[in-house]
Amino acid sequence: MRHLSFLASSSRLLALALLLSLCACAAPKPASAESFAFDTILRASVYAASGDATPEALAAGALRIADGLEPLLSAHAQGAEIATANEKREALLSQESAALLREALRLFDESGGAFDPRLGALSALWDFKSASPSLPDPARIEALLRDARGSKIELAGKRLTLGGETMQIDLGAIAKGYAADRMRAWLLENGASCALLELGGSIVTIGERPGGGPWRIAVASPFAQGEIAGVLRVEEGFLSTSSGAQRGFTLEGERYHHILDPETGWPARSGLASVTVVAPNGVLADALSTAFFVLGQERALELLRARFPGVEAVFIREDGGTLCTKEGLFEAS
Ligand code: ADP
Ligand code: MG
Repeated sequence: MRHLSFLASSSRLLALALLLSLCACAAPKPASAESFAFDTILRASVYAASGDATPEALAAGALRIADGLEPLLSAHAQGAEIATANEKREALLSQESAALLREALRLFDESGGAFDPRLGALSALWDFKSASPSLPDPARIEALLRDARGSKIELAGKRLTLGGETMQIDLGAIAKGYAADRMRAWLLENGASCALLELGGSIVTIGERPGGGPWRIAVASPFAQGEIAGVLRVEEGFLSTSSGAQRGFTLEGERYHHILDPETGWPARSGLASVTVVAPNGVLADALSTAFFVLGQERALELLRARFPGVEAVFIREDGGTLCTKEGLFEAS
């Protein structure tokens, strides 16, 4: 675990985080711990606990859960279970990876294919983390896309078989949501009664906000770094933001971001700049924020109404307009 206390200036954190809790000034200070995993800063803040464990121990323990998941779920990290399966094309997965992959395949169906866990080779080709980015060869995009879309992920129990030749599993769009779910469950089991988990674009609130009233979570502006697009007021719950500003590069005035359209293999251009989803669990919030971003506001609204009645969303369009599915949930700045 790499501790990041050196990054603890609040303006720097605001610039990095897509969602950020705004706490009441009068609230008691939580025990907080930070680490770095899934390419982002993770923070656990524990305000109150009823069991034997101290808030400090709970915050540190929650982060250990997330740190332990990366070696399982990363598509690329050397030795990670999914990365190894991608290389060998056949694998016997752990119970945990198999269960999450099964959920990913279900969400692929439920999202009409907008959330697609088969895009790992394309994401690697685009290399959005490169210090000197360049556009991939369109013919290569086309070839990888054809193989990804034409290939099956077969999961029989824990036995995984990958079809195709180049297709790679990538659970990056749900890994943080899953880590958030696991951390929350662990915290509740161990006596935390009021806590906040921040994992880049995924947030979980546990218990009532210290000081009373709903939790206030700021959504980062996709247009200006360090600025806030608005504030969500939520009870206990799970939130996830997917944003075109989060990761990517700009070439000749054109933005190329890390959320790919599974129909084209290119960054999704759906008229959205950012989507925030409030859902009954972290995996669903994370998967749907990615899927909604791909689909665009109108198709995402149709899907939400047809299949996800318990889910709310805030859309921030490239034209600067916003739409929230529930009155009183989001206040634009
Ligand atoms: P972040 O991980 O930055 O919070 P997301 O949850 O939206 O953002 O996930 C984006 C990541 O998911 C990408 O970095 C890539 O690994 C993967 N990905 C990109 N496009 C898709 C897609 N259409 N469906 C599923 N996963 C995707
Ligand atoms: Mg996601």
